[in-house]
Amino acid sequence: MDRNDPIIIVGGGLGGLTTALALARRGWPSRVLEGAPEFGAIGFGIQFGPNVFHALDRIGVSGAVLEKADTPAAVLMIDALNGQEVTRVATGSGFRDRFKYPYIIIHRIDLHNVLLDACRRDPLITLVGDTMVRRFDETSDGITVNTEDGRSFRGAFLVGADGIRSRTRAQMLADGDPLPNGFMGFRTIVPMGEVTADVQRDVVALWGGPGFHMVHYPLRHGTLFNIVAVFRRSAHSERGDVAAYRAELEHIYRNAHPTMKALLAMLDLDRRQAVGDRDPIRHWHKGRVVLLGDAAHPTLQSLAQGACMAIEDGCCLADCIAEANGDHEAAFRRFENARVVRTARVTLESRYIWEVYHADGIAREVYWQMLGERSEADTYRCLAWLYDGFRLPDKAARGAPP
Ligand SMILES: Cc1cc2nc3c(=O)[nH]c(=O)nc-3n(C[C@H](O)[C@H](O)[C@H](O)COP(=O)(O)OP(=O)(O)OC[C@H]3O[C@@H](n4cnc5c(N)ncnc54)[C@H](O)[C@@H]3O)c2cc1C
Repeated sequence: MDRNDPIIIVGGGLGGLTTALALARRGWPSRVLEGAPEFGAIGFGIQFGPNVFHALDRIGVSGAVLEKADTPAAVLMIDALNGQEVTRVATGSGFRDRFKYPYIIIHRIDLHNVLLDACRRDPLITLVGDTMVRRFDETSDGITVNTEDGRSFRGAFLVGADGIRSRTRAQMLADGDPLPNGFMGFRTIVPMGEVTADVQRDVVALWGGPGFHMVHYPLRHGTLFNIVAVFRRSAHSERGDVAAYRAELEHIYRNAHPTMKALLAMLDLDRRQAVGDRDPIRHWHKGRVVLLGDAAHPTLQSLAQGACMAIEDGCCLADCIAEANGDHEAAFRRFENARVVRTARVTLESRYIWEVYHADGIAREVYWQMLGERSEADTYRCLAWLYDGFRLPDKAARGAPP
């Protein structure tokens, strides 16, 4: 690959923008094509484990992100039926001492804007909005992408950062749609002053119930409150309007604790989203095209790590490209080798945790007992593989040229 040819990045989400910034830090130009009319994000909250800062440090935005973020006092799991605490991960000073960085919650738009501002300041990055990519064609010396509205762009190669419904993946692998897991979710942000439910407002709380869960936490320095309700789909909402959705929620959450019911009453029911992931695969590249983030390894949100993985991917891919001396095959292979097991572990552990949250009957009692027996040290040990961050293997271990 020629360092002067821009790298085409399809998708200006968290993965795509991180990739552009990480490439620019290594002196590589890129052009980010985003299908939405404007670069931006859907406006809900997002959580990040401390591992994200290893990547954010590399692209120079940790300080700006921390200014916008909040640090919860703890991450709690609560029994959705009786309101009792099942387990608590303290995320205060002890956590920070152990993992070197904080656990944060942030408005997705704020994070997106930090990345966008950094991209706009960098002359090596060109952002092109309102550009829905339809397909790509590879030649011996480059790649051409064609858009829905008939434009075309040429580059050295292509990074597919176009999310869980990636067209890049569909063209490259033709391996079908993501796997729905039968659950649906509603997300809402309300002003903190309007929260009437009797909830802890300075924590991330997850209420786990048989076939349903709910997550809530504060945003923007305690001025907003983010609520996510997720449940196994039933036949109640087949009509597909707000009244039917309300009836479905009332049925599914009928045995939930009164606090949860008060939170449910605050949900905006206009739009709901199906939940799904994909089985892990080993190869995310073919020729001059490589996938990352949700396009490569979408995961359930139970570990709150999908965006973290997309951001880590972006930094890792940029390093592999910068070190490959023009050999894109070698760069993409090295990237996969570095990332497949870590991202697959996120996908598979997220499925396991999903089961724990939603368990019923005796399985639920077993999981609750196991979680209740864990000490803080046990919890930190279980999370170390993830929260200690991702380090590129050294050059010798990767067989890279000296
Ligand atoms: C309810 C919920 C809660 C979550 N909570 C967390 C959390 O707390 N922490 C966490 O780390 N992760 C979380 N995630 C996961 C996280 O949202 C995703 O893993 C992350 O957004 C993936 O980033 P990405 O850049 O790969 O893809 P995306 O964010 O999906 O970005 C893809 C971009 O590509 C664009 N695009 C798509 N197709 C085209 C095309 N053909 N041409 C041009 N552009 C295109 C899209 O418009 C979009 O901007 C959550 C997910 C859900 C559903």
